[in-house]
Amino acid sequence: MDFNLTEITSGEPGRENEILKVLILGSGPAGLSAALYAARAELSPLVLTGMELGGQAALTHTIENYPGFPDGVGGSQLGELFQKQAERFGTRVEFDTATAVELSSRPFKVTTYNREYLTETLIITTGASPNHLKIPGETQLTGKGVSWCATCDGWFFRGKEVLVVGGGDSALEEGLFLTRYASKVTIVHRRDALRAGAVLQSRAFDNPKINFIWNTIVTEVKGKDAVESVRLKNVLTNEESDFATNGLFIFIGHTPNTQMFRGQLDMDDGGYIKANMLMETSIPGVFAAGEAADPHYRQVVTSAGMGAAAAMQAVRFLEKHETTA
Ligand code: NAP
Repeated sequence: MDFNLTEITSGEPGRENEILKVLILGSGPAGLSAALYAARAELSPLVLTGMELGGQAALTHTIENYPGFPDGVGGSQLGELFQKQAERFGTRVEFDTATAVELSSRPFKVTTYNREYLTETLIITTGASPNHLKIPGETQLTGKGVSWCATCDGWFFRGKEVLVVGGGDSALEEGLFLTRYASKVTIVHRRDALRAGAVLQSRAFDNPKINFIWNTIVTEVKGKDAVESVRLKNVLTNEESDFATNGLFIFIGHTPNTQMFRGQLDMDDGGYIKANMLMETSIPGVFAAGEAADPHYRQVVTSAGMGAAAAMQAVRFLEKHETTA
């Protein structure tokens, strides 16, 4: 073992030579749940928020399947509640983003935009980012009608027609949300069956503003200063056509934000960090939770549970090394 717990302090996160006990990367449901548990174990965890405070859940208008909120809860509201609860027990939250990690020896080194941190345990909850279609026009028209967030951008499409790509829960949930503003929502899916759950499917089928185009992909977004149309291709007939629309909302899955750990931690082919049931990664003292390590469930409730478990394991790890130091 190459660290000494007597060096570990829990002062302000700006102190020189401070070695943190628990550093958490990411402030979504997994990160803030980990923080709550680590804080209640009196480890003064430090959370580096990353670019998106509250993670992807905070961008969701209403979360209806997090237990304890029978009428649903706003995504950003839930994030704020998570943070408040974690801070109440001594969590420190820094608006900073890790840019590099060195995990070859303990304490682990984490470099951010602002400084370097040393920590005895690291909990990775960096989440995932929405996938892009990678088609012509997508990048140029981002923010000009191309979007990955209905909650953020739906308001701009009042009385307009929008197109949604995808057949999963996100496409349907966000498509339904867009009907608040848009006059018509067309969901384009590459197959003839949806991946989304039954409740969302029946809501979407029952909504008079929503219609579907099946077995079809979007191959190009067209427009000068704003989206004017998209090019559609039927994958069964190869028939192509232009479809006039004011907006293109893309919900075709996510990629885990784990590039920084490549070559240091074991990952699967999709880039998800391999973690066992104890949230342990291939490096002792490094734990992973939430979407960065979960190709299966990717729910707020499962991410929160994984975060809590990761923190409990970090506590055990520190206790074990304290007694054997
Ligand atoms: P997802 O379940 O992976 O669905 C992605 C959809 O995009 C699929 O229908 C897929 O088609 C399609 N797709 C993928 N690549 C494509 C491409 N290049 N071109 C066209 N279509 C493409 O992703 P998600 O909907 O974001 O959901 C992610 C996770 O979050 C899931 O576990 C989901 O249950 C969860 N979630 C839950 C809720 C809720 O419970 N209310 C809400 C949002 C998300 P195929 O079907 O043909 O593969």
